[in-house]
Amino acid sequence: MRRYVAGGPGAGIRGAGRMLTVALLSLGPAAAGAAAILLVRPEPVEMLLWPLVALAGLAGLAAFFQSWRAGRSAARVALLDAECRDLAQKCVTYLARARAAEGKVESLSIIREIHRTGNITGRPERYRGLLAVLAATSEASQAELFVPEGQAAVPALASVLRRLADGEFFAYLDKPLVSSKVGAEELICRRVEESGTGPRVVVRAEVCVGKDQAGFAELTMLSRGGEHTGGPPPREILEAMVHSLDLDPAGADQALEHRQVFRVHDQSRSWLTVSYPLMAEGAIIGSMRLRVPDEVLARRELSEVEELLQETAGHVGLVVKKDEDVERARRDGLTGLLLKVELLRELREELERRPAGGVRLSLLMIDIDHFKKVNDTFGHQTGDVVLKGVAVCIAGHVRSCDRAYRYGGEEMSVLLPGADEAAAARTAERLRRSVAELSFAAEDGRPVPVTISIGLCEATGGRADPDELIARADQALYHSKESGRDRCSAWRETGPEALPRGGRSGRRTRRDSRPAPAAGTGAGTH
Ligand code: GH3
Ligand code: MG
Ligand code: MG
Repeated sequence: MRRYVAGGPGAGIRGAGRMLTVALLSLGPAAAGAAAILLVRPEPVEMLLWPLVALAGLAGLAAFFQSWRAGRSAARVALLDAECRDLAQKCVTYLARARAAEGKVESLSIIREIHRTGNITGRPERYRGLLAVLAATSEASQAELFVPEGQAAVPALASVLRRLADGEFFAYLDKPLVSSKVGAEELICRRVEESGTGPRVVVRAEVCVGKDQAGFAELTMLSRGGEHTGGPPPREILEAMVHSLDLDPAGADQALEHRQVFRVHDQSRSWLTVSYPLMAEGAIIGSMRLRVPDEVLARRELSEVEELLQETAGHVGLVVKKDEDVERARRDGLTGLLLKVELLRELREELERRPAGGVRLSLLMIDIDHFKKVNDTFGHQTGDVVLKGVAVCIAGHVRSCDRAYRYGGEEMSVLLPGADEAAAARTAERLRRSVAELSFAAEDGRPVPVTISIGLCEATGGRADPDELIARADQALYHSKESGRDRCSAWRETGPEALPRGGRSGRRTRRDSRPAPAAGTGAGTH
């Protein structure tokens, strides 16, 4: 089976040429300095000049590494972009061919392309591929997919593809923004990156609500000799597109709820919005919403477009279901957290990716205190509710770039990319306090006190061993247990150290008189 991944000989040669130029530009000053000292040899000042050359060399190396990383990610984005356009183009061709031959649409080839999108590597990219095929076949100016929130720890998902005169806009939101109170104008674009790839320019940005990342947006436009074809710069267009995202799920939510097709004709904007439920194996899996311009309906019979969409919806549902299954297989069934194997894989990848001593990374190991006693006193069912509640609380109190895992039993881990020890300590303390403030109750109404202990370790000084990092965080966790539980400790070269507790004490005080939910009804509050 073909998998769409970055690569290709042309891209490789162009990339190598660019890398050589960057290497010369970044390391050139250091090499020139060294050569000048060796040739001229101004003996007394030589000792002073060498450190400067070394510094220039280090700065050059850092710049070279940065550009190498940026180049790799730009190449991947460009290739996936090309693959999605290729899929869409094929569908347009199938449509034209089918119409010319029979005067009606033949959908088998298009269905094959839909199933092919299931092989695209990367979840957002799979959704983009699906939307590209849908937009192309229905000639919709905008195609959207909505997947409702399943397990609490799996976020609701919405993706949008808008076709422009000279390009395409794609947004992927994996936080439940749709139908929430957040307005599109409140969305902020961060880390905007622009990369020119041949005749196209690709701009990509993180879409955030405040500091929290909610997804990302990508704009692909035609460019002419490095300049895009007039109008405002692509970055500004991307931001304007993000601010005009339609976060109202009208139609798509009705299709989900009633399992029926919903059509709304907007006369003022001259388009028909049509929403389809997506079913797989008898269950509703999501919905798709397409905006078909009136000028398309003037050329094509609505029944023809609808016949095709009706037929494709079932197959889109299967691809979305497969995608959900893949995602679910990465997670633990009870807590919804990622599995331990995912931690080991991602830790290895993060450590390999980071240059020695460069990019920061911290790990938290978390263990519920006296959990055996919870089981023994209140029963395993209550234990399960507590475990799930703690996991949901942890997943909900970390940044979206952090990842929470069930390490095993009642032990969990959080990987904090970009966090040094101080930042990790702040996160750990926030988690400890949030869990201590949860209210759990057994089925008979008795309160179930719950606290956690945490050990943290920052990956420092170029060490890149996942097992060692886990062992160190574990040592720190052990120290928290020995120091009385309900606390955080950090691993240090000199031995683990308990960190000061901030805010109010973990255990519920008499002032905290909120009613505790029954164990059977939910996961507690936070
Ligand atoms: P400590 O504070 O030292 O961590 O004490 P503890 O009692 O939490 O630790 P111990 O390792 O003695 O017990 C862990 C318990 O967690 C034992 C096991 O039955 C329970 N446990 C592990 N996984 C699950 C689960 O999925 N559900 C429930 N209900 N209990 C679980
Ligand atoms: Mg425990
Ligand atoms: Mg344990």
